[in-house]
Order: sequence, then structure tokens, then C-alpha cells
Amino acid sequence: MSGLAAVFAADGPIARHVGGFEPRAEQLAMAEAVADACADQAVLLAEAGTGTGKTFAYLVPALLAGGKIIVSTGTKTLQDQLFEKDLPLVRDALELPLRASLLKGRSNYLCLYRYEQTMDEGRLDSPVQAEQLHGLRHWASLTRSGDLGEAPVPVLEEGLRSRITSTADNCLGQECPAYADCF
Ligand code: SF4
Repeated sequence: MSGLAAVFAADGPIARHVGGFEPRAEQLAMAEAVADACADQAVLLAEAGTGTGKTFAYLVPALLAGGKIIVSTGTKTLQDQLFEKDLPLVRDALELPLRASLLKGRSNYLCLYRYEQTMDEGRLDSPVQAEQLHGLRHWASLTRSGDLGEAPVPVLEEGLRSRITSTADNCLGQECPAYADCF
């Protein structure tokens, strides 16, 4: 039995961590294709139907390959599920010393410089924006991630969001007075 076959076996480590897990030939085939691609440093384009167990089929061999991995998802929901559920599960099942970071696009993070400018100017497009900005105040002084998804104002008006986040064009980079604390 190959190493991957043992991991995905009915009495293997994945089965011990996932209730109701059943080995699937398609899942193992995809995992072996991913492992081969990692070993050969090749490009693999894989497509598999619902119920294959695609997430574990790429995570397990990719993590076992031991290098640095970037997983890019189509939605933030899937990203959150991977980060909060699937990755910890595979890490525990395989007993891997995994270090992982969650990265979102820059428009998801507070730009301290533009936020402070907006606070100082105090001119907003609507009372709702003023209320939302006020609602961020306490969080903004405490947050360590700057991730607006964790803020107490879950849905920011787009006009406000664009004023307190940065783009590649308007970010001051190393010239920014808030650079050292930038999220
Ligand atoms: S470095 Fe860029 S993103 Fe960071 S606080 Fe300054 S302007 Fe904003």
C-alpha cells in the first residue's frame, strides 16, 4: 500500500479524524496525481466531480511534499473553511508541524493612513457612513490583523470602504507614516 493509500485508508489517519469517512478511488487517484506533480515540479490541471473529496485530495499530498504552499480559492467562504476547518484537520491527522497564514486581497484590510485621514477630515457621504466609521473606532485601535471582516461593522458602504482601504496606486509604501504598523 502506498503512503497516500494508507493515509486515505478506512483505518487511516484521515478516517480517524473525519466521522463517516469512506475511502474513494477517485480521491486517491487525484491525491496521487497531485503528489506526482509535486515530485516532478510539474503543472497539473485537475477537475473532479462533487463528492470526490477534492480538498483533502490536494491538501494531503501538497502538505506531505513539505514545501511552501499557496492555496488560492474562488470565494472567501471556501477560504475560511479551509483555514478554520480543513487545514487544522489535516495537520492534526498527519501530525504535521504546519504554519499557515490567511491572506486576503488588500481591500479587506484597514489602511491606517487613509483611515486616520478620513477620521480627521470628518466629511463623509452619508450619515450611515459616519455611523459606520464611528462603529469602527474601538476595533481599529485594538485590531492586530486589520481584517475588516472581523470588524463590528460587517457590511461597510462601498464609498466608506474605499476611503479606509488602500489600492496599489494610492498606497504610500515606505513613505507612509503608518508603514511600520501597516496591516
Ligand atoms: S503603507 Fe499603504 S496600506 Fe499601509 S497604512 Fe500606509 S498607505 Fe495604508
